[in-house]
Amino acid sequence: MRKEEKKFQTETKELLNLMIHSIYTHKEIFLRELISNSSDALDKLKFNSLTNNNLMSKDEKLEIKVSIDEKNKNIIIEDNGIGMTYEEVEENIGTIAKSGSKEFRNSIKDNEKKSEVDIIGQFGVGFYSAFMIADKIILETKSSMAEKGVRWTSSGDGSYEIEEIEKKDRGTKIILLIRDKKEDLEFLEENKLKSLIKKYSDYVRYSILIGEEIVNSTKPIWKIPKSELTTEKYNEFYKTTFHDWEDPIYHSHIQVQGNLEYTALLYIPSKTPYDFYTKDFKKGLQLYSKNVFIMDKCEELIPEYFSFVKGLVDCDTLSLNISREILQKNTELQAIAKHLEKKIINELEKMIKNDRENYIKIWESFGRNIKFGIQDMFGMNKEKLQNLLIFISSKEDKYITLKEYVENMKEDQNEIYYITGESVEILKGHPKVKNLLNKGIEVFYLIDKIDEFSMKTLGLYEEKKFKSINDSDFNLEETEETKEKVKEIEKENETLLSKIVDILGGKIKEVKINSTLGESAVTISAKGEISLEMEKTLGEIPGNEAVKAEKVLELNPEHPIFKKLQSSNDEEIKKLVEILYTQGMIIEGFPIVNPIEFVNKVNSFIK
Ligand code: ADP
Repeated sequence: MRKEEKKFQTETKELLNLMIHSIYTHKEIFLRELISNSSDALDKLKFNSLTNNNLMSKDEKLEIKVSIDEKNKNIIIEDNGIGMTYEEVEENIGTIAKSGSKEFRNSIKDNEKKSEVDIIGQFGVGFYSAFMIADKIILETKSSMAEKGVRWTSSGDGSYEIEEIEKKDRGTKIILLIRDKKEDLEFLEENKLKSLIKKYSDYVRYSILIGEEIVNSTKPIWKIPKSELTTEKYNEFYKTTFHDWEDPIYHSHIQVQGNLEYTALLYIPSKTPYDFYTKDFKKGLQLYSKNVFIMDKCEELIPEYFSFVKGLVDCDTLSLNISREILQKNTELQAIAKHLEKKIINELEKMIKNDRENYIKIWESFGRNIKFGIQDMFGMNKEKLQNLLIFISSKEDKYITLKEYVENMKEDQNEIYYITGESVEILKGHPKVKNLLNKGIEVFYLIDKIDEFSMKTLGLYEEKKFKSINDSDFNLEETEETKEKVKEIEKENETLLSKIVDILGGKIKEVKINSTLGESAVTISAKGEISLEMEKTLGEIPGNEAVKAEKVLELNPEHPIFKKLQSSNDEEIKKLVEILYTQGMIIEGFPIVNPIEFVNKVNSFIK
């Protein structure tokens, strides 16, 4: 029979170390984690047995047994679920999920910033949580696919032992050797375990037995009338079922009757999952029919832009032994998905109205996904989603919706103004923003690189165009009179302006006079299709470095520097213009190409 001694991968070792020395005050959740693994294993068995009659006998009871061996200081959790083969034990129990390991390493690196609870929680380290109370764990399991059983033993100290054993029954047994510490030994009490099962695992759908007694209610939570449930109960169910350590920020229980009959539970996590914006993330809702678990991530139930929503759907009229392929084309499922999508949009819109604070949290974790949804498929879904957008606006420095912006607009304002940049702090100081604020005109601060693309996709909102105040043709003061005045100044300074274009060569397309810059001597705006922000964003994509906005240097004719330009010799003009250009680029959030040269030039004037 095979027997091996193996080392944990480095990340697992570090994680275990963290667990063992954890000061996490909720050690008790180890039981929830192990029971939820057992429940998953029973789900898998039941589902597979729909298509394979040999897996279990018809009258076999699927259940989870929890027992205490006081003499040996053991807690034992046992299920007759799907079990694991030798290879599966190695793969599942010896390692952190592959996609997680790199993230984990980074997370450990900036450990100072994160509490260990955050780290532990983020990686959903279910099974390992038992090391918080046990100094040794023995796992014995037998898969229905294997002749022999497997025993896995570890003290969580860097290595584990794995061997083949004789095991009669299918399923998994986990023996925890409780650490000889007062606070840990307290778990060896039957009443304590009972209360933990009630608290965390009441709605597990399989019986959880202590001795002969079934401790949990076994009824699926979604079949219980809403009036009998509390937020706390919904949250516990969420954490158990979706392996999250934190309460969700939102839940909704949907019970639909009529032509289409189904029940759904929807949740929004309170934190962005570590892999959310990666390829590894899989969206989907759990699917049940008549209480039987059919699949974990049914993608068809949730659109891409709401992929952060977790939950489940139970539809009794779905056939049980339906294949995945057929499921995809199932019209009932499509109708449910449509229904759910509407529901989510409604609920989020309601939240924007009545619970802005929590919506902002959701927005800050998942808003990007909604913005991608606006842009995706050439804006096919933009109408549905546009009222979910919020951006920080200049008037009160807080998030507002497009609708609120339009409602606040001055009578003669025809466009929705925005400016793009690195951060709200920086944009607040932008001369054009200040100028507009003085006039009581609001500007959206777009600080996520993809924001402007959303505006471009939307095109219009309530018939109002979106306008970047950084476009070269943006000028609010454009009355006939000011236009004339600017033209006059441009004419008077024709030679100077054309010298400036020459000096800056290909860097700018043109120079113009702007008399609305207030205290600022200069800004840079963009002409044509490519905005300044797009140049920055696209420039980061390899192969796109040559994509440049057509830049316009705008000079403030009232500024002392402009006066100085008028009275300088060619050599001084050249230096000043180069300084002004760099300043303009800095204001727009571009990096300085040659900082030393820039500083030297500035210093030569200070001298
Ligand atoms: P998670 O449950 O979040 O995937 P765990 O570390 O708790 O992480 O478990 C890792 C994997 O080990 C599970 O995904 C499952 O495949 C397997 N596993 C754990 N417990 C059991 C069990 N009781 N029966 C069968 N497989 C199990």
